[in-house]
Amino acid sequence: MGGFYELPKIRYGYGELAPHISELQLTIHHTKHHQTYVDNANNAFKKLDAANKEGTDLDLKAFTKELSFNIGGHVLHSIFWDNMAPPGKGGDKPGGVLADAIDKSFGSLERFKKLFSTTATSVEGSGWAVLTYSPDTDRLMLMQVEKHNVNVMPISAILMVLDVWEHAYYLDYKNLRGKFVEAFWNIVNWDYVNERLKDFI
Ligand code: MN
Repeated sequence: MGGFYELPKIRYGYGELAPHISELQLTIHHTKHHQTYVDNANNAFKKLDAANKEGTDLDLKAFTKELSFNIGGHVLHSIFWDNMAPPGKGGDKPGGVLADAIDKSFGSLERFKKLFSTTATSVEGSGWAVLTYSPDTDRLMLMQVEKHNVNVMPISAILMVLDVWEHAYYLDYKNLRGKFVEAFWNIVNWDYVNERLKDFI
């Protein structure tokens, strides 16, 4: 009880996703942006612990919103690092149950990539494109998350995410989000996404 979040280590070197994501871009994204969400989620818990100890009231509307945003940021970033791999290891195409599920839910891999890319490029402001799995319907689904927590479907298991906040790509691609989304397909860790799906089906 009473534990806190920690910034997870990335399984590859900061420079290894280049040229699709540069070393500087990935370093700042992980050590500054992701760290901030971890710190802010933990600070919210510290505030709760202190209020519990003192027996004082909390503004629960603000508190739960703060938690939702920062925990959402932490969890999505943690999956994001893992669902990428250096070019050569990542990219190519999915296999296993994932390949079948993509065909069943979207018709073909090409069609899925097009739909996922459009989900990513059309996020208003800051957010994420997310591939989910719903056990209720045995279907893969697309989810477009605004910020880190808006439009989240609570029933869905998250399989793969793409961060399209400007902080994810601005150093490398400036305002060209579409170029970043295109580059993402070269570094998708399909094996990891397939393993996540296997945990849920
Ligand atoms: Mn981010």
